[in-house]
Amino acid sequence: MNRLYLLVVFCLPSTLFAQTAYLLRPDRVFDGETMHEGWVVRVKGDKIEAAGPPSSVSASGADVSIVDLKGATLLPGLIEGHSHLLLHPYNETPWDDQVLKEARSLRVARATVHAQKTLLAGFTTVRDLGTEGADYDDVGLKQAINQGIIPGPRMIVVTRALIATGSYAPKGFSADIDIPQGAEEADGHDVLIQAVRRQIGKGADAIKIYADYRWGLMAEARPTYTVDEIKLIVEVAKSSGRAVVAHASTAEGMRRAILGGCETVEHGDAGTPDIFALMKQHGTALCPTLAAGDAVSQYRGWKKGQDPEPVRIREKRVTFKQALDAGVTICAGGDVGVFSHGDNARELSMMVDYGMKPLDVLRSATSVNADVFHLADRGRVKAGLLADLVVVEGDPTKTIADLRRVQAVMKGGIFYKQ
Ligand SMILES: [Zn+2]
Repeated sequence: MNRLYLLVVFCLPSTLFAQTAYLLRPDRVFDGETMHEGWVVRVKGDKIEAAGPPSSVSASGADVSIVDLKGATLLPGLIEGHSHLLLHPYNETPWDDQVLKEARSLRVARATVHAQKTLLAGFTTVRDLGTEGADYDDVGLKQAINQGIIPGPRMIVVTRALIATGSYAPKGFSADIDIPQGAEEADGHDVLIQAVRRQIGKGADAIKIYADYRWGLMAEARPTYTVDEIKLIVEVAKSSGRAVVAHASTAEGMRRAILGGCETVEHGDAGTPDIFALMKQHGTALCPTLAAGDAVSQYRGWKKGQDPEPVRIREKRVTFKQALDAGVTICAGGDVGVFSHGDNARELSMMVDYGMKPLDVLRSATSVNADVFHLADRGRVKAGLLADLVVVEGDPTKTIADLRRVQAVMKGGIFYKQ
């Protein structure tokens, strides 16, 4: 294809565009919950002014540009539920080497490119779950995007994330030396309170903890924080209006995260029907990160499509199905950074492959993620919400891979790709 994609003057402040109005006319509109054939959407300034059948939305006004989007579906800007803009794929550089050998300046420079790729892929918001050794650099990245210095998605940031002492990585070094870790070690009453408050003070929108991890010389993951420690973290974060999210792959790590009051569980690989029932009961959402496990298995030598699926993948299919059967709220988040930024839709395709209906996957990536992440101003095509929109060729409820055929991306009423 030789279609010319134009990056529209993203460095100009949005106030210059405040008077711009658009009437977008795709074949159909997914409003975050259901599909509507023949709807149109009117945008004014940075907000959606109206959405509905053409008869209900005015096309008049001297300043209105009419944009015909034949053959296309318009959706709310997609929300990536689990990204690491400061990481790049582990088959390019192993995680340990990124944390220990790459300068922060290098990592941030790369992250600016990741941010642009993410936005142009139609993901207008990311929940970025940890800088992995790059301290508070997600905060500066977010500010650079918000100030219009670089193009990128709106960001929810967690800064360094919290780990129990000794439990994280890089690991495998002599016990005689202390290696800088990919997150902040903190345990016990006073130290945890200070760490949560420090991260918030530095810019964290939410707090991320690691409720389990491969620990010491053992190869398998084990729980880290006690339920009481998690409750304390949640209490301190929540008193400032911030949520806590937990990395947890073991059943016991998940159980403690749920009982401790974490709002989402990331990965959840070894969940059981009992654990998923507990999640449902407590309203804890699961962010399954299917694409990360799939990518890592391939980096370890699995030839997808040729070799039989590794045990890890087969088990993930089983536990994901158990979560669906239990009615757990499913966020969409791929742990992108483990694989390429801009390839975020990979997770959404895999959710369908692992048994979710395409319409439910689209809901997860828009209205569900918005609700779970407390983002009342986006995630739906509705009057008054932010004009964060993506237009794709085809119909992703029929072919989920159509999400990759991005025709246009709008954030806050500004076209970044058209
Ligand atoms: Zn992650």
